[in-house]
Amino acid sequence: MNLLVVDDEETLRSVLLQVLEADGFKVSEAASGEEALQSFREVSHPLVITDIRMGGMSGIELLTEIKQHNPDTQVVIMTSHASLDSAVTCLRAGAYDYLIKPFESLDLISAVAGRAAEKARLVAQNRELVEQLKRTNEELQQANDALKEMAVRDGLTGLFNHRYFQESLAKEISRAKRYQKHCSLIFMDVDHFKVYNDTHGHPEGDSLLKTLAGILKSGVRCSDVAARYGGEEFVLMLPETSKQDAVRIAESIRSRVADEPFPGRDKQPLGIVSVSVGVACYPDDGIDAPSLLSFADRLLYEVKRSGRNRVLGQPPPVTDR
Ligand code: GH3
Ligand code: MG
Ligand code: MG
Repeated sequence: MNLLVVDDEETLRSVLLQVLEADGFKVSEAASGEEALQSFREVSHPLVITDIRMGGMSGIELLTEIKQHNPDTQVVIMTSHASLDSAVTCLRAGAYDYLIKPFESLDLISAVAGRAAEKARLVAQNRELVEQLKRTNEELQQANDALKEMAVRDGLTGLFNHRYFQESLAKEISRAKRYQKHCSLIFMDVDHFKVYNDTHGHPEGDSLLKTLAGILKSGVRCSDVAARYGGEEFVLMLPETSKQDAVRIAESIRSRVADEPFPGRDKQPLGIVSVSVGVACYPDDGIDAPSLLSFADRLLYEVKRSGRNRVLGQPPPVTDR
């Protein structure tokens, strides 16, 4: 362990040097507080033994500076005044221990330095453990965040998953109830997706779903929830959105999908990749999540029945059926 001896008396320094080097310390010397501080700034010694009274900076001043620079450094103060006062002042200022000059025995120097070195080692070890714990905690926190994120996302598209969507919808509807707001729901299904898979293979089908998810993400506000409901079915929840606005948003998504040059779309029955869409709005079309979903689903089914690639926000008049 590196140790710095500070005293303006050269003979005293050499006595300490001899004793402490024999104890196995790597000892550096300084003849004044200023010199010690200079050397301490270059190498942060874990252990410093300093005289209390020197020309210029005093031992207590040096101690204060050192503690500010590195609070882990253990400082032993040497005082030639065997008064309890100066020893207590040193300890209050953060010294680990004190030695009274003239030394009663050289063994005492060894004993005090040895204990201070042990303390310095423990403090360093403790700090390392705390740092390690902090790093582990941060890693754990990151892993937790990633897990939380994974738990609410769909693996293929990165959209929210079915469960998260259901929870959000239930929450949003109770909020809409409380504040008497609208909340709209867009339910869509890819047309003839089985044909696409059968013609181009499942990996191409997957890639279509990802592109579609991208279109959904870019078409919604951050307060909206875009989710993969299952297979090739997607849902959007639009808080505080009227039916009219929701239909407009749905229509814009539908037309973007229809315009998207998906590879091999010309082989699809409609010559393009398209989606069929049903829109429902709280409170007009249902007062809870299941009734809203079922309303939108019925409209979606109606679109499928009547040719696909369309948005429906109201059931067609009975005479049309
Ligand atoms: P419709 O226009 O009536 O909706 O016809 P469709 O072919 O889209 O509907 P259908 O329910 O017959 O087929 C859906 C297909 O979606 C069948 C299923 O294999 C496929 N599918 C579901 N999930 C995935 C997926 O994650 N990746 C791929 N590639 N295909 C999927
Ligand atoms: Mg389907
Ligand atoms: Mg489909």
